[in-house]
Amino acid sequence: MSRIYNFNPGPSTLPLAALEIAQAEFTDYKGTGMSVLEISHRSKDFEAILANTKELFRSLLGIPENYQIIFSGGGASLQFAMVPMNFIPAGASADYVVTGEWARRAFKEANIVARGRLAASSEADNFSWLPAPESWDLDPAAAYVHMTSNNTIFGTQYHQFPDLKNKYLVCDMSSDILSHQFDIKKFAMIYAGAQKNLGPSGVTVSIIRDDFAASANKGLPTMLTYDTHIKHDSLYNTPPVFPIYIMQLTLQWVKELGGLAAMEAINRKKAELVYAAIDGSDGFYRGTVRTDSRSWMNIPFRLGSEELEATFIAEAKGSRLLGLKGHRSVGGIRVSLYNAMTVEGVEKLVEFMQEFKAKH
Ligand SMILES: *Cc1c(COP(=O)(O)O)cnc(C)c1O
Repeated sequence: MSRIYNFNPGPSTLPLAALEIAQAEFTDYKGTGMSVLEISHRSKDFEAILANTKELFRSLLGIPENYQIIFSGGGASLQFAMVPMNFIPAGASADYVVTGEWARRAFKEANIVARGRLAASSEADNFSWLPAPESWDLDPAAAYVHMTSNNTIFGTQYHQFPDLKNKYLVCDMSSDILSHQFDIKKFAMIYAGAQKNLGPSGVTVSIIRDDFAASANKGLPTMLTYDTHIKHDSLYNTPPVFPIYIMQLTLQWVKELGGLAAMEAINRKKAELVYAAIDGSDGFYRGTVRTDSRSWMNIPFRLGSEELEATFIAEAKGSRLLGLKGHRSVGGIRVSLYNAMTVEGVEKLVEFMQEFKAKH
């Protein structure tokens, strides 16, 4: 067995069970004599994959019938532009909660295609904490409110979501979708690039409530119009067939584990193990995030010097623990604990952290 413990921030580790099914079916998908890479997106086989993937999303997230699920290319980054293009009417603006690098990019795109208004930001403190929803400065006339549930680079996460009543709440959930239970009915729209918690890169899921979809601007290019993808069931053009197939296998794995309740318990346990190792290290490891804003998915921390951090990364590699280098805007170490990271992998990491501390 040559697999390592993969703590990469994205693309990231996938469930081994899903990879093994894909491997077994790779050259001959269910007796078709073809790989999923070779089948038509209009075939019965792909129709079944698409329908099953949507059904898995519906059951895992408890998505009601008045929400539509679409799959597209372009990553979460294209959603940063498509959301304001579709949903900010001429002359209006939308509110943005800027809590990290991806949130900042979403805000930037809004200001290219229309007008974004800053509702809250923790940028002055290098995004080390999350503004509470009660403190957001919301414009009653805003077309929608945009937030980011988990800030992948800075390691902060909203574990609870506000109920903004008759406002449209839009959320980028790229790095924590499917990691814990939440009430989708609080949102007009959520979207997520797949490569953190859902599957490989190349596909983005968007889940849009009917009333919000109906409010969209008209006259945009066809591919940039959500309604196109809703009406054509993600088959207006060729969708990312293989990434959707792997996503289906990943969702199936979450279902077999016991769904989001089970996933949440596992993720909580993994995060607690790492935070306990940081907090119990007498300052050898120093978390960079205010404790009330800590993420279960991405855990950044620093050591006494950059040199020691480089040694940590090098020695971790020797213990088959990879992908731990922090993003340059935070520095140090970042541990990414997406759904597919096992408790066993986290226990190995924590053991390594304790040995490293003793040694250095
Ligand atoms: C990774 C990430 C993105 C960027 O996704 P792409 O698919 O590369 O466009 C956006 N938002 C968040 C929260 C992310 O973690």
